[in-house]
Amino acid sequence: MKKEAAKIRIEKLKDEINYHRYNYHVLDRETIAPAALDSLKNELFSLENEYPDLITSDSPTQRVAGKPLSKFVKTKHSRPMISLFDAFSESDMRAWQERNENYLKQTWNQEYYCELKLDGLAISLHYESGQLQIAATRGDGVTGENVTANVKTIQSIPLVLRRPTTAELKAAEFSARETKIIFDLLDNGVIEARGEAIMTKKVLRDLNKKYESLGKPLLANARNGVAGSIRQLDSKITAERHLDFYAYDLLLGNYERGEVVATKSQLDSLLRLLGLKVLADNNICKNLEAVFTFFNGVGERREKLAFDIDGIVVKANNLKMWPTLGVVGKAPRYMMAYKFPAEQATTKVNDIVWQVGRTGALTPTAILEPVAVGGATISRSTLHNFDEIQRLDLRLGDTVVIERSGDVIPKVISVLKNLRTGKEKKITPPAACPMCGGQVEQVDDEVAYRCLNKKCFAVSLRQIEHFVSRGAADFDGLGPKLIEQFMAAGLIKDAADIYAIDETKKSDLLSLERFAEKKAENVIAIINAKRELDLARFIYSLGIRHVGEETARTLAVMIAENLHPEKKQAVALSSLISTFQSKSRDDLANMEDIGPVVAESIYSFWHDEKNLELLKKFERNGVKIIIEAFGKNKSVQTKLAGKIFVLTGSLLGLTRDAAKDKIRALGGKTTESVTKNTDYVVAGENSGSKYDKAKELGVTILNEEEFLKIIE
Ligand SMILES: [Zn+2]
Repeated sequence: MKKEAAKIRIEKLKDEINYHRYNYHVLDRETIAPAALDSLKNELFSLENEYPDLITSDSPTQRVAGKPLSKFVKTKHSRPMISLFDAFSESDMRAWQERNENYLKQTWNQEYYCELKLDGLAISLHYESGQLQIAATRGDGVTGENVTANVKTIQSIPLVLRRPTTAELKAAEFSARETKIIFDLLDNGVIEARGEAIMTKKVLRDLNKKYESLGKPLLANARNGVAGSIRQLDSKITAERHLDFYAYDLLLGNYERGEVVATKSQLDSLLRLLGLKVLADNNICKNLEAVFTFFNGVGERREKLAFDIDGIVVKANNLKMWPTLGVVGKAPRYMMAYKFPAEQATTKVNDIVWQVGRTGALTPTAILEPVAVGGATISRSTLHNFDEIQRLDLRLGDTVVIERSGDVIPKVISVLKNLRTGKEKKITPPAACPMCGGQVEQVDDEVAYRCLNKKCFAVSLRQIEHFVSRGAADFDGLGPKLIEQFMAAGLIKDAADIYAIDETKKSDLLSLERFAEKKAENVIAIINAKRELDLARFIYSLGIRHVGEETARTLAVMIAENLHPEKKQAVALSSLISTFQSKSRDDLANMEDIGPVVAESIYSFWHDEKNLELLKKFERNGVKIIIEAFGKNKSVQTKLAGKIFVLTGSLLGLTRDAAKDKIRALGGKTTESVTKNTDYVVAGENSGSKYDKAKELGVTILNEEEFLKIIE
């Protein structure tokens, strides 16, 4: 492409990319597929490569700078970036208003403007003639650090301010004079936007998941995440952190507050019109009562918000009041941070358990004396890794400060060493893996200790997943994700541990990420509903090799024949074990459908010390194994005796499990695959290859209606 044409194309590409960026990152609206946007960027990049003198600093390709900085340069703020006074209660807030009334010598009759108080890093954006020139941290309020290269990587920050239309400004109640001032500043003046760079909870979770798998230290919270991302020298790293930015203040040239913009709500409108992102939750409140309602509403929604907040900021909505009220000390009278109650508490560390993660990494969890914090009783706290224990100099028996905000995992903040008695015990890394007993090692230049048994986590996870699955114990609502979370948190190591989770362990659940009261109660209810298990299901759920549902049923009948229960009752685990152990390999192999391989597997399962321990744990944790009546004189129904069924497709009237139960109750059996021994194939909706196989072998095929008649 010729240079003249390239120049035009570059300008058009920049506008087009900027338009889609603005929609996606500021307005949360996808106007082009990300892949298509990438190809626009690629075209721009290669054109700029061809004509480097056409590169401008506001080009979307310039968001990530080439070389890391060697250090940050200090930059002085045009006007100080103020800090805030804190209020923690309604009475604090009332006292604040009273102080202002005394200062003004009149009663307060002004509106307030309430904003969410983001927990991130304050940033000032310095635009000259509408172009982003400098981005700086707050620093000490007077001088900050120039972090422009890093801040440019934040996609929701415009490199060039958007130019509103006259009509838009009019709709936002700007006069002709004010409109002219805004345009002049955009053309040839200085506009400074201030706001908070943040990391969303989702980004933090995803990053930590990634870091965990790489064995890298985890980010303690979103605020540390954002500060660490911006206050480091390589903008490529910042770009990977996917930060976001919300603006809350705007300084227009040398104009005083209230000279161009009348209210804080109008200021938010102008920020939006200039292409900056503003929190949608911000709201005008008529008086303090309305502020309290807003505050309480935010408190209830807090956990569901995409980002961390630590309260709200309440400002006089009338900007003329700002210079009138002025600043006292370092903080202004005209605004107040109204914060959520402190979410720290002190408690004692009673024990340390080591949990094994998916990658085999061992993570210590502190078992705490239960304590109320952040609206929940907490009894566990993650410590991330052994380095963390050393950094804190944590010992068993220590009194510690813990923090929990919202549904975030509680963490140990510090150790109160002055409270030590001398009886505290040093903590050492585990000698063996708590899950599999395997060898543990600290891999070179890695923080984490790992179980060297590569299958450790996966094998246990699969076993537990099998236990809760549909044909087995059937924990509806306790899916693989929760099981993995419980395992990774060290709450369960095997299936029997699930039953230890009851009302008394609610605080353990609340110590997990994304666990609020309701979810914890729900999980406990699901587990409580499955404390009684049918014998055949129980045997199947143990995951004994080669023992499928049918074999489990055969074994259950064998047990019933031996024990002859007169009525439906719970069977003691000891009699279950002794019955199994009374059978030789040959006894088992002589049973119907059980060959020598399966017999060996069953035999060794019931003679393995580790398995017997697990079985006893089930009983200890309150599992009741139910056996049906099987009296000496009780006759079994024989309508379908010896008949072999295969179910395929979905039945409308009853679940597959119910259908199987019905067949068994009538003396029939079900198998999974169609063979020439199959008597009936029951074909429901969308039946597949089994149907074809049945046709091929000439097996009788029943539709649902015919099947229901047979089992009537
Ligand atoms: Zn292990």
